[in-house]
Order: sequence, then structure tokens, then C-alpha cells
Amino acid sequence: MTDDGLDQTTDLHLGLIGWPVEHSLSPVIHEAALRAAGRRGAYHLYPLRPEDAQAGLLVQLLKRLRSGELQGLNVTIPYKQRVLAYVDALTPAAAAIGAANTLYRVQDRLVGDNTDAAGFLADLQRLGVAGPSAALVLGAGGAARAVVYALVDQGGSVQIAARRVDQAKDLVADLKRSLPNARLTALALTPRQLGRAVEHCDLVVNATPLGMWPQLERSAWPPGVDFPAGAFVYDLVYNPRETALVRAARAADLRAEGGLGMLVEQAALAFERWTGIRAPRPAMYAAVGKPFENG
Ligand code: NAP
Repeated sequence: MTDDGLDQTTDLHLGLIGWPVEHSLSPVIHEAALRAAGRRGAYHLYPLRPEDAQAGLLVQLLKRLRSGELQGLNVTIPYKQRVLAYVDALTPAAAAIGAANTLYRVQDRLVGDNTDAAGFLADLQRLGVAGPSAALVLGAGGAARAVVYALVDQGGSVQIAARRVDQAKDLVADLKRSLPNARLTALALTPRQLGRAVEHCDLVVNATPLGMWPQLERSAWPPGVDFPAGAFVYDLVYNPRETALVRAARAADLRAEGGLGMLVEQAALAFERWTGIRAPRPAMYAAVGKPFENG
């Protein structure tokens, strides 16, 4: 029985709010989890055009979660920040990041969590890259916020390189409000600045959409700059599975991985929040054609 009084026979109605959502892998991952856990239910897509969200449909969906008609919701672009105004409580991660991707009810309170952060760390751990590190994160948007929070919360130091350096500076200032001792630096995503940043760095994370299908040959890593020696390169982009960045890093004899594992891990953590049971990870990995053990 979960805090919300769900028992193992309750049909689970889960779903994803966002726009656009039609290409999301979340239904495949969560429906595999439901089957493997022997639970009845479904994971629905709620494509919510911004004008419909404005007209109250976002609030209506959240009411359905509050009333118990839905048992759990994921939230994606462009609503991860907007939903904060409608929940009763935030986990420390969601509060520090300033965005929620997972909503659930605890007793009669609506809680917002951000499982991207813990999902990212879980994937690093699965890959054997755990522990505080000196990281260089490319990009300073929504996903970067979760990744940077996760790393500094573990005691790591992070350099954030963004094409608009002000965006990276804002991220540093926001995170310092929750984690005043966080070791964070903002820099411009230029060959010159990256050339300096690589000196003390054992993890590179791409949190820009560069390299995502259909722009397969693009990479956030500028040509002519050497990768940091011995670093692990993690690309949040998972479509294609091997991005130009991952290919280039592997060609330079570095270990490198795309973001599919993070996608599954954030889903597994959301499933655990909603059901109170351990997520059947092997089935969730299998649903996206990825072996569970491949660190
Ligand atoms: P976002 O909020 O739009 O942020 C994107 C960041 O990349 C911003 O800093 C943006 O800068 C920068 N950027 C965009 N185009 C760029 C370019 N041509 N050169 C340099 N910087 C550029 O997006 P997001 O939600 O953070 O998502 C980023 C990527 O992560 C997406 O591909 C998404 O699919 C992936 N992601 C993966 C997972 C996972 O589970 N693996 C989870 C979340 C996100 P501007 O603001 O200046 O454009």
C-alpha cells in the first residue's frame, strides 16, 4: 500500500503532459513496466497545445490527478516550470532545479519531483562513472539544470558552457540559492573557453539538442578542441543512439554514452513514486532495445 492508499490491485492511469508528445518513448517504457509488474492500467499521452493549456486544460488534468482518477503524471516541455504553481509541495530536487517532470499525490497533497536529476546520476552509476567529479556541461537549458544540480548535490564541481553566457550565469545564481557551497562556473561555449576548461575535467555532458535527429552530424563540441584526457563523455541526446559527439569521443579512445539510459532511469524513478514498488528495470530497458547491464 502506498502513502496514497493505492493497493496492488488498483488500475494505474498514468500519462504525459506536453507539446509535442507524439514521438515520446514514455508510453512504451511505462507500459512495459506495468506488464512486468503484473499491474493493469495504461500510460496515456496528453498532447496539450499551449493555447489549450492557457484555457484551463492543464489545471483540469492536474485536478484529475488530485482526485485520484489519475495515479501519476509526467510533464515535459513546455510545462515543466508552469506546473510548479499548481502543486502543494516540491521535492528538494524540483525546488532547486525550478522544474518538475513527475507529479503524484501523497495523501491529499500534489507533489512535484524532478527525476531527471536522479535518473542522470543513476545512469552514470550504472555505467561505473559515479562519484563527485569535475564536470563540463554544454548548454544551460532545462535538462542542464537537472544535470548540474545532480552533480553539485553530490559534491562535484561543474563548469557550465552556454552560447548565451548569461543563461549559464543565471543557472549558477539559481542553484547557489539552494546549494550555497556549490562549486559552479559559467563560461561561453567557444573553442577558446572550452580549450581552457578541459584542463580540469573528467566528465563532459552535452545538454544541448545538437546532434539530435535529423541533424545527425551536428555536435556541441567545437572542432579543433581536444577532449579532456581520460574523461567520460555523456550525451543527453538519445535519438540517434550514437550521436556525432559520442562517435567522436569514442574515436578519441574515450568512454562515451548517449542518453537512453537516463531516459529509462528517470522513468523508473517516476514509476516508483507512483506505485511504491521497485521498477522492473530490465523490462523497461528491453522496451527501448537496450540491454539492462551495459556499463
Ligand atoms: P532546452 O531547455 O531548450 O535547452 C537547450 C540548451 O541548448 C540551451 O542552453 C540552448 O541555448 C542550447 N542550444 C540550443 N541550440 C544550440 C546551438 N545550436 N548551439 C549551442 N547551444 C545550443 O532543452 P532541454 O530540455 O534542456 O533539452 C536538451 C537536450 O537534452 C534535448 O536533446 C533533449 O531531448 C535532451 N534530454 C534528454 C533527456 C534524457 O533523459 N536523456 C532528458 C531531458 C532532455 P539557447 O537557449 O541559447 O537556445
